[in-house]
Formats: sequence, structure tokens, C-alpha cells
Amino acid sequence: MNHPQLPSYLDANSLGPWATFLEQVDRVLPHLGKLSVWADTLRRPKRSLIVDVPIFMDNGTVQHYEGYRVQHNTSRGPGKGGVRYHPDVTLSDVMALAGWMTVKNAALNLPYGGAKGGVRVDPKHLSLSLLERLTRRYTSEIGIIIGPEKDIPAPDMNTNEQVMAWMMDTYSMNVGATTTGVVTGKPLILGGSLGRHDATGRGCYIVAREAMQRLGIGMTGTRVAIQGFGNVGNAAARVFHDHGARVVAIQSTGGSIYNPSGIDPHALNDFLAHSNGALTDFPGVEKIDHAAFWAVDCDIMLPAALENQITTVNAPSIRARLIVEGANGPTTPEAEDILLAQDAIILPDVLANAGGVTVSYFEWVQNASSFFWTESDINARLDRALSDAFRVIWDVGQERKLPLRTAAFVVACTRVLEARALRGLYP
Ligand code: NAD
Repeated sequence: MNHPQLPSYLDANSLGPWATFLEQVDRVLPHLGKLSVWADTLRRPKRSLIVDVPIFMDNGTVQHYEGYRVQHNTSRGPGKGGVRYHPDVTLSDVMALAGWMTVKNAALNLPYGGAKGGVRVDPKHLSLSLLERLTRRYTSEIGIIIGPEKDIPAPDMNTNEQVMAWMMDTYSMNVGATTTGVVTGKPLILGGSLGRHDATGRGCYIVAREAMQRLGIGMTGTRVAIQGFGNVGNAAARVFHDHGARVVAIQSTGGSIYNPSGIDPHALNDFLAHSNGALTDFPGVEKIDHAAFWAVDCDIMLPAALENQITTVNAPSIRARLIVEGANGPTTPEAEDILLAQDAIILPDVLANAGGVTVSYFEWVQNASSFFWTESDINARLDRALSDAFRVIWDVGQERKLPLRTAAFVVACTRVLEARALRGLYP
């Protein structure tokens, strides 16, 4: 790929998911008319902060970690996006994730730009108190650019409600006032929202249901294969199962399991919580190897783990009609072309996993008004927001004969770049 617009701080040979994001932007530009003159707004993040995060280890030595916060775009509102703790996370990963947040928030018409954060750390190697120290120092370092009206972090891979509680407390201590609206995905007792925990997985189900209605496919007995059994994959498995679908395969770092009659995710959770067993020890399932997971006979393939999981290597073996991207960036552009040629329909990440940020938005609104909604109200609003976004994107795809990812980018980038054009350039 040739990227003449690359900023000097990136290496063309190690772009990672940012290359995927740039390719997706290139694919949407021909459909944006005059707004495409603003394309570089999408190719260059507005603000990227790299911070050093030093912490005292338990043996008295000091360890330094690399941290990032990228605000890809703030044309439509404050930055919004999760924080990832992962030993391999890089600036270009965070840039891509921030770019997808810009598109996702605009696709859902949420009043946000897009942002993302990360710390290059393996949290499994840190005690709880070291994790707290790391989180507090990282939050202080990025404190100059975050805030309820500037940029609102949330959980992502390996960060959770406890990490958000520490982030909220650290920011609040620094500004001298309890500021619940600085992060979302908080514990309920600290201003978190009902429904937030399962919102991303629930959203995967809602958009799949909408697509299936249009394709004339019923939910009962539909076979779903899920990669990842964390926040997104676990909730998606439960919601699909509870609506009559059959979860036939699950893959996590612990291995891959298969049962064509269906795996009960509630029973699997009980098993994982109350026995010392691993995923692959769950009774009644067949242990399958990594590659075989992608080839299982299923109607829906739901990647909910990491980027770049569906590639030219495994895409030809995928039999599902519907790919529901629970993870961010799980499909490479080349793999997408293979899947589309196989007549698969891809519900892109910027729509399929937008349930989390949608309920994060509800949390932020509830924090701002200090008035809290019921869970059924939240789930109903989530359903409406995602179904409406799905309809708009589906209709653009049908009218312009575009794959759904490009259609979602058309809808979202039009909103972002119209806002950019109307605001004009300062000064
Ligand atoms: P998580 O850490 O809770 O779970 C990740 C799961 O993926 C785990 O089950 C892990 O075993 C599995 N996994 C990791 N690496 C794997 C590999 N190489 N092969 C197979 N399985 C592997 O993370 P999460 O919050 O569920 O996020 C998963 C994805 O969804 C990420 O791409 C994230 O950016 C995206 N996402 C999350 C949210 C959210 O609300 N949590 C919202 C939108 C998008």
C-alpha cells in the first residue's frame, strides 16, 4: 500500500491496524462528493499524546511504561473511546482505534468525536496495587487533555470498572471536585449506568437481528461461532442464546470448543466460575484446534477478541453468511474482499460493537443530569439507537450498492466532514 499522506512519526512498514483504517478511508472517499477535500482530517489524528508512566515496583525499583491518548477527531464533540492495557499496543494501534471511534460515534449520531488510549503493559504480571499505581499515574499524565467536556475514556481490553473508578478518582483529586462524567463504564455505585456491562454484546445481537429480518432469516436455531469470551463475546453469547440462537463454537486464549447442538453460555460461566477447569474442560464439547474454529459450520461468525483475526488465510474457510464484528478491526481489507466475494454480509465494527459507546453516552448524560434511568429504559433506548443507525446504513448500502462498512463510513464521514466544513479552520 502506498500512503503519501503518512505523518513523519509513523513507519510505513509497521502501520498495523492504522493501515486498515487508511484503506477504509480510501474506500469511502469516492462516495463523499465535495467533502472529500477534507479527507486529510481523517488521515491525521487531531492530537496524539505519548506519556511516560513510571511506577515503583514492590521491590523498590522503578519501572517505566509507555502510555498513549489519541484524539482522532473532535469536530462533533469531545473525544470518546476506551483505554487498552496490552503488552503489544503501539501508537499506530491507538490511532486506528481512535479513528474507528470517530466513525462509530458519528455512525450512531452520538455527539462525540473519537479518541482512544493505551498503556503498553501486560496487566496479568501486575498485582492489584501496581495496576492501581499505573492507572493513577497514566490518568494524571493524560489529565491535561481529558475531562467530561474534552475527552471521556472508557474500558477496553484488559481494563474494567475498577480501572475506571481509579481513573475517575485520580482526575477528581487533581481538579478538586468529584467528576463522575470524566469516564464511563464505571461501577454502578460511582455513577455507572445499568446495562453498560452487557451493552456491546447486546448491540451485536440487535444489529444481527435487524440484518436477519431483512434477509428473511429467523433467530431460532441460528448457529453462532464466537471468538473471544470476554466482555463482548460473553455478553453476545448470552443474549444470542437467550433469544433462541445456538452458540456452536467459542474460541478464547484458552482454546476452542465446539458443539453443534449448542453450548449454554450461562452453564459455561458457572463452570468457569466454580471449577478450576479451563474453557476446553467444559463437559459435552469437542476441543478443536485454532484453525478449525474458523471453518465450523455456522450462520454467524462473531469475532470479539482482537484486530486482524480474519485474514486471507482463514477467510476462505469461513462458512457463515453473516460476520458480526464485535471486536474492533477484526477483518483485514483483503479478507473483507474474499468474504464479500463469498456472498457474506459483514456487519462492520463501527456499527456492530457500537452498543458499548451508546450506553456510555447514556451514562455520561445521566452523570451530567444526576438523574438515573432504569435498565429496561436503557435497553429500549439502546435498541432504538442501534436499529435506527442500522436502517440508515443498510438503506445507503442498498441505494448505492455498497458493502455495509463503506455505507457506514459514508454516513459517518459525511457527518464528521460536514461538521468540519461548517466549523471552518481556526484561526
Ligand atoms: P476482554 O479482554 O474482556 O476479552 C477478550 C477475549 O478475547 C478474551 O476471552 C480472550 O481470551 C480472547 N482473546 C484474546 N486474544 C485472543 C486470541 N489471540 N485468540 C483467541 N481469543 C483471544 O475484551 P473485550 O472488552 O471483550 O474486547 C474485545 C474486543 O471488542 C476488542 O477488539 C475491543 O476493542 C472491542 N470492543 C469492546 C467494547 C467493550 O465495551 N468492552 C466495545 C467495543 C469494542
